[in-house]
Amino acid sequence: MRCPRCESESLWKNGKRQLSSGQVVQYYHCKDCHKRFNERAGTPMHRIKVSTEKVATVLRSRSEGLGLRAAGRVSGSSHSSVARWEARLAAHQENWSPTPSPESEVTLEGDELYTKVGKNRPAHESEG
Ligand SMILES: [Zn+2]
Repeated sequence: MRCPRCESESLWKNGKRQLSSGQVVQYYHCKDCHKRFNERAGTPMHRIKVSTEKVATVLRSRSEGLGLRAAGRVSGSSHSSVARWEARLAAHQENWSPTPSPESEVTLEGDELYTKVGKNRPAHESEG
């Protein structure tokens, strides 16, 4: 496990939390740059609201030749979800860099503490 910001391996464990999906995630605190993050930070999974295991199972099915609908049935997800996961992962493989921009830390899924960082922007700048 490394810090997603400075790649330091000097980390404190910072407790565990259970996501809405039921998955328990270990949190860390970097001793060097003091960034706090969870074990899914820096992976394509950190913005997907389903368990990593579920996505991995579905995408493995897809790589073995299953169609979108069949792969969705394996996991109980819709074929549109499967398509979205594939698109996300493809985008991350092209764009991922080991030193994400400071804004990236407000996008950690399932952690309201961090999603409140940077909320003080004018309303017209918010998405949606
Ligand atoms: Zn760090």
